[in-house]
Amino acid sequence: MNHIIRNATILTMNDRNEILEHSDVVVEGGIIARIGPGAGKAADNANIIDGSGKLLMPGLINGHCHVPMTLLRNYADDMDLQTWLFEHIFPVEDRMNGDDIYWGTLLGIMEMVSTGTTCFADMYDGMDSIASAVERSGIRAQLSRGQTSNDPGPDFSQDPAMKDSVDFIKKWNGAAEGRITAAMAPHAIYTCSPAYIRAIAEMAERLGVPIHVHLDETVREHEECLKTHGKTPAAHLYDLGLFDLDTIAAHCVCITGEDMVRLKEKDVSVIHCPASNLKLASGIAPIPEALSAGLNVCIGTDGASSNNNLNMWEDMYLASILHKGSRRDPKTITAADALRMATANGAKALGMPYVGSIREGNKADMILVDLGKPHLKPLHNLYSTLVYSAQGSDVSMTMVDGRILYQDGEFKTIDREKVYYHLEKVCERLFG
Ligand SMILES: [Zn+2]
Repeated sequence: MNHIIRNATILTMNDRNEILEHSDVVVEGGIIARIGPGAGKAADNANIIDGSGKLLMPGLINGHCHVPMTLLRNYADDMDLQTWLFEHIFPVEDRMNGDDIYWGTLLGIMEMVSTGTTCFADMYDGMDSIASAVERSGIRAQLSRGQTSNDPGPDFSQDPAMKDSVDFIKKWNGAAEGRITAAMAPHAIYTCSPAYIRAIAEMAERLGVPIHVHLDETVREHEECLKTHGKTPAAHLYDLGLFDLDTIAAHCVCITGEDMVRLKEKDVSVIHCPASNLKLASGIAPIPEALSAGLNVCIGTDGASSNNNLNMWEDMYLASILHKGSRRDPKTITAADALRMATANGAKALGMPYVGSIREGNKADMILVDLGKPHLKPLHNLYSTLVYSAQGSDVSMTMVDGRILYQDGEFKTIDREKVYYHLEKVCERLFG
């Protein structure tokens, strides 16, 4: 179906940072066909959406997530990462089956589309179930099978996770009308042997897919890597050749200035996950320095059990205010910087130049924000309003590929009651 959004304020996030007032956006065949005042007048047979009093902007791009971890939301909190992961999270994950993952994913997608996220990058297991949920829901995603092995190698031809990952990529890369892309994901340096990381890099190169990895999330990871390999985690992965592939690196809490030079040289994108890093007490990533070093920085929520939600507005807000406070510098990471990280930078990181900005010819991944709420008035500065005042619940419409997934509290592609019913059954089984 074609759509015309009439008379909205448009935050384009294009290279010129244009903001258009009283403008229309015409969506034809899933593509943004025309933009501008009166652009929607001539089109016929289109669904007309009144954009008066609303802001139209690119959908948010969540650069790092483990979406089925919605099932573990508020299950294990207030503990350090290693205890949280190894003693609480991994044992439940070992009990999860494909059905659990499917319903947990749909729950997470409901949360994301109702708060304006149109695309997410995910690393998990049970990828067929995640991809099926993505396909059915209409959201866009870059999906990767998280791989762990401390086998010294060098032969990983019988490695089940490697086989799983390759099968997944062959089956799903480019599926769902191109909404699903696939990546390979060595989980982290502390869960993967050097030979395993090298084997994953070689396979990813052969299959032509990018890399999604956790990088230098904690002081412990950083120090153990120095002790074991005599170099930082970023230097370790650089030397193993992983960064020769298009890579998104989540967290980067402890990266050094030299690491930033390495990451910049290889064009690695940094995924900043401020809520997760704070909640797991991992620390604060050096994002102002990363931006000064010219790195492409985007924002991720991480899984819902270390955040504890998938609401990008909170992470955008934190990304902007956190560094001001810790540096005592109110000028660092402006509201516009944070918005760019959550939109255009995310698109660049995921190799999706066709989303992340409102531009003719782009895919119609966009949202409407209701500016009529009391906490959004008066409207002095749009960027400030969105980053410092807006909430995920201010999103009134979410569209992906020209299809409305969420509008005025209603999910158009997901049966909310059915998801809640299955969620209850899943939780009885997993935690009962
Ligand atoms: Zn993660």
